[in-house]
Amino acid sequence: MRNQIRGLMIEKGLPSFYLTINPADVYNPLVKFLAGDEIDLDKLTMDTVPDYFNQSCLIAKNPAVAAEFFNVYMKAFISEILGYDPKQDDLEGGILGVVKAYYGCVEAQGRGTLHCHMLVWLEGGLNPNQIKEKALANGCDLEFQKKLLAFLDDTISNSVPADPDPTFELDLGKVHQCATRGPTESDIGQNASISRKKDLHNLVKKCQFHTHHPTCYKYWRGAPEPKECRFDLDEKNTVPVSVFDPETGELTLRCLDGLVNNFNETMLEAIRCNMDIKFIGSGPAAKAILYYITDYITKTQLQAHVAYAALELAVGRLGEYDPNADDYTVRARRLLQKCAHAMIAKQELSAQQVVSYLMGYEDHFTSHKFSSLYWTGFVKFINDEAPSPECYRTSVELSAPVIQSNELGSEEEQGLTNSED
Ligand SMILES: [Zn+2]
Repeated sequence: MRNQIRGLMIEKGLPSFYLTINPADVYNPLVKFLAGDEIDLDKLTMDTVPDYFNQSCLIAKNPAVAAEFFNVYMKAFISEILGYDPKQDDLEGGILGVVKAYYGCVEAQGRGTLHCHMLVWLEGGLNPNQIKEKALANGCDLEFQKKLLAFLDDTISNSVPADPDPTFELDLGKVHQCATRGPTESDIGQNASISRKKDLHNLVKKCQFHTHHPTCYKYWRGAPEPKECRFDLDEKNTVPVSVFDPETGELTLRCLDGLVNNFNETMLEAIRCNMDIKFIGSGPAAKAILYYITDYITKTQLQAHVAYAALELAVGRLGEYDPNADDYTVRARRLLQKCAHAMIAKQELSAQQVVSYLMGYEDHFTSHKFSSLYWTGFVKFINDEAPSPECYRTSVELSAPVIQSNELGSEEEQGLTNSED
């Protein structure tokens, strides 16, 4: 996956946004529908909205329905909200603009629910260096800065919008916002504008507002070390207005409430679940963020089942009885066996991940197709067909120097190979 993302970056430049979508399977009415309940999704009532307890039980018993929900949901997100058009004819675009590429990795969180981290490339999006150069051009390009900051402030929100009318009650206001599909027909009939604002207000409070839990301080080693939430959400983390640093061109975005996770209003209204949106930014800090993100979203996930199989084999071998083994060998084996068991026990694969795999659902979503080019073999073939000894430092004495230069080539060129189509 990492090479594919690198391939996209080489061809399309650096991405503009980093999104996290965390579909609420324990609340979403689509799960209830997919599980066979004949509810009218467009006309939910107090009797048909999912009940948290029942739906949690349903998902625990039937991870297949949760995996299907996630797959349907993400595909709808890509086609309707990002508005990605594979033919690239649609110039209207989606919520963020015209998307020219995206790459999202699926992973499971502690309780097994699937979520997606996604990089989005926009048509006309500038690289962090270009943003910095443009913002600092001719002293300081204030017009450019103003436009970019206005776009970002409009796209990324991070505070609970004001309650438009504390006396106004939505039809389904008493149930969790993630279990509804927004204001009902009667809400809209009563007051369309107030009901949408009220709905958004409730949604942000429910999905985006962070309450500290003991897990926030999991890595805190006690005083005198400062007690900080590891998700970096704190009342004190506020920035009143978005600004460009006139010296470095570094971009600092507005943060009105340190306890509210970034979101996009329209996206949140549509997907009705926890989300995060980050702009990749400007200057060297943006590149550092990108390096971290690429590393983070492609972490070991796929190797989990490989590691599992290898460990299982090792444990099997260690367990074989050998009558000639001495005491030390037996103890050493036991130690290894214990370590292997512990590693297997820690290697989590959620039921939803397993079902996704069995059903052939995507473990990543992307706009592009990739083909691997095995560079070493490719170079060897060319070299065999048309040897060019002048390219190599030592004179051609059979294979040794050739292998060395092939290996160098393969490392340098790996990224390029993926952007071929
Ligand atoms: Zn916290």
